[in-house]
Amino acid sequence: MPELPEVETVVRELRDGLQGRRIERMEALWSKTFQNINGRDVDGQRVRAIGRKGKYILLYLDDQDMIIHLRMSGQLLFTGARSQAPHKHDRLIFDLEGGERLVFRDARKFGRIYLVNEADSHLAHVGMDALDPRMTPSHFRNLLRQSRQGIKAFLLSQKGISGLGNIYVDEALFLAGIHPLTRCVSIKNPHELRTVILGVLTKAIDNMGSTISDYRNTRGNEGMNQHYFYVYGRQGLPCKKCGAIIVKARMAGRGTHFCPECQPEA
Ligand SMILES: [Zn+2]
Repeated sequence: MPELPEVETVVRELRDGLQGRRIERMEALWSKTFQNINGRDVDGQRVRAIGRKGKYILLYLDDQDMIIHLRMSGQLLFTGARSQAPHKHDRLIFDLEGGERLVFRDARKFGRIYLVNEADSHLAHVGMDALDPRMTPSHFRNLLRQSRQGIKAFLLSQKGISGLGNIYVDEALFLAGIHPLTRCVSIKNPHELRTVILGVLTKAIDNMGSTISDYRNTRGNEGMNQHYFYVYGRQGLPCKKCGAIIVKARMAGRGTHFCPECQPEA
């Protein structure tokens, strides 16, 4: 599933290719993908600005907002000319002014696009974005102090802090030397963990995200960050720090990769 770095890569490309342009016509090819909460029409509206909160892409239109969640396999792709027949996995088509076309392609059909009056209030329940400047060391420390969860479950929950999924949680906890089941309140150095999380996400954005299976950027290209993982997908291989064998086990409901030597149980 695309996480913050993959979604941020898409958002940056959308700012180049979509921001300021008018959607001449939108067509939903799979009815469940498009949830029109306010029942209004998209056609003719300009995309004023593009934002992101956690794993959500936000399109601020002239009169309303659009929230896009890629979920498992969703892709936003600029496909060029309108004359082409849609791909069998295209669920939504945006014909843009100037003749270009943007499609929402989603093999597994879990992706959702919501048309709402106001995106930010609609996403008020989602925790602060991990890269939000207001996610200060003291704010992060207070979030951990208030949580009764284990750290992996907390970071996956999207409550308090949003954007991290299974890949980047595993990578960050490895680099911080924290066992995934450690209680949030027991983490001795929240400041260091926050710094590591920022570093992991920033590096992944620099590498245009990670492609495990379905993720592609808006031009159909794969990310590069999967080549630099420390633990994710490396079960059975030696730890890059200490040489111990990386383990995969089910924790917080997910397949979790960690080094038993570098990340001892607290
Ligand atoms: Zn190790």
